[in-house]
Amino acid sequence: MRRFTRTEKARLALEFATRYRIIRDFPFRGQEQILSWQFRRIQRLLDIAYHHTDLYRKKYDAAGVHPRDVRTWEDFRSVPVLTKEELIESGTGAVDRRRNPDHLFVSRSSGSSGELVSVYLDAKAMTTQAVQAVRMIREMAPGHGPLDRELLIYTSEYPYSSIGGLYRTTHLPTLRPTHQMTDHIARTRPTVIAAYPSILRDLLRLGDLRGAAPGLQAVITNSEQSLQAERDEFADQLGCAVHDEFSSEELSSIAHQCRHQTYHLTQDSSYVEVLSPTADTPLPAGQLGEIVGTCLINAAMPVIRYRQGDLASLRARRCGCGRDGPVLDTFVGRKNDSFWRRDDVEVPSGQILDWTYNLILTHQLGVQEFQVTQRTTRDVEVALVVSPDYDRPSANPLIASSFRHTFGSSFDVSIAVVPAIRRTTSGKYNPIRSLVRRSPHRY
Ligand SMILES: [Zn+2]
Repeated sequence: MRRFTRTEKARLALEFATRYRIIRDFPFRGQEQILSWQFRRIQRLLDIAYHHTDLYRKKYDAAGVHPRDVRTWEDFRSVPVLTKEELIESGTGAVDRRRNPDHLFVSRSSGSSGELVSVYLDAKAMTTQAVQAVRMIREMAPGHGPLDRELLIYTSEYPYSSIGGLYRTTHLPTLRPTHQMTDHIARTRPTVIAAYPSILRDLLRLGDLRGAAPGLQAVITNSEQSLQAERDEFADQLGCAVHDEFSSEELSSIAHQCRHQTYHLTQDSSYVEVLSPTADTPLPAGQLGEIVGTCLINAAMPVIRYRQGDLASLRARRCGCGRDGPVLDTFVGRKNDSFWRRDDVEVPSGQILDWTYNLILTHQLGVQEFQVTQRTTRDVEVALVVSPDYDRPSANPLIASSFRHTFGSSFDVSIAVVPAIRRTTSGKYNPIRSLVRRSPHRY
């Protein structure tokens, strides 16, 4: 990703100086006001998508949808849903053709079968993201000030490293060895760290993270599924708050936890619906379905009603932090990672993650890391990286029988002790994997 130019840096500093308070207070506006702001934004994006991109023009013409007919939320629900496969296939077909893709910022996200989606953003979208990120950090770490430093352990670097010299961010690639990360932390003394939960786990296991960063105010986990119980344990070990953030390259920020651990939607970044996985119909509050999102900040490449493959439910909730909008009620992971029983019952990956946590970690079986893979509708493999006190004769059968007891006796469970769990090419740890695919009609 290219860096900000001098002019873009100056615009970022100006945006922060003039608009931070408005952006900070946005989540606390009334829902009616927020929804009408979101709707105006969506109308503008639909207009750009229809008149200036090849992908949406073709798609909306085929469905008989024209932006001028989208006047209510009900109308919006008739706009066709976009899939990851369509976005991959179109290449730059969703980019506003008045923009030169070479001048935009590109970030990539992987599809279900390994192909990459390229997401093109302009400097304005990156700037909005930067200001919203400061808001998020200050919500999670109220003491975080302009001279404090954030360490971002992520696949790619941001195109800027500070806002006018303040709110500095340093970056480490996710594939850097753990001891080098600890050294970097000891040298730079960040007050906030954002990292994958698996990297945080390694940092805590292999080094003295608390000693390296004595001024740590908050840790933000992202990109991989993690459980509240585990984050609470991290928080205990670190002596600071640990909160989770949920975002994607396509939709930007989707939700993040407040200090009451509630996942509030980031309503000035994306508009989120929960639809049935089989049809494009909205589901009632509290019902589990698939997240379909519209990115509200990216005008260079509109992402509208995008099915990104995550399962969750939504609900309106008044929270102790003062917000009363929609929150992610349950978040159970990626649809493609769901396990399938032979009788076609779906087991969401989040439930399996819960099981592993309860069994392996709270029973102190001496397991350092695990990966549960469904290979066929019958075969499940539990791969384990173990410590010397792991007792194979008693623990192996315990794990296998507990899995069958919890998720169904039709599964054959094998246990494999391995030297390491393979990471994805971007360094991501995937604890629950399914190699079994179900076509939508069998859902
Ligand atoms: Zn809250």
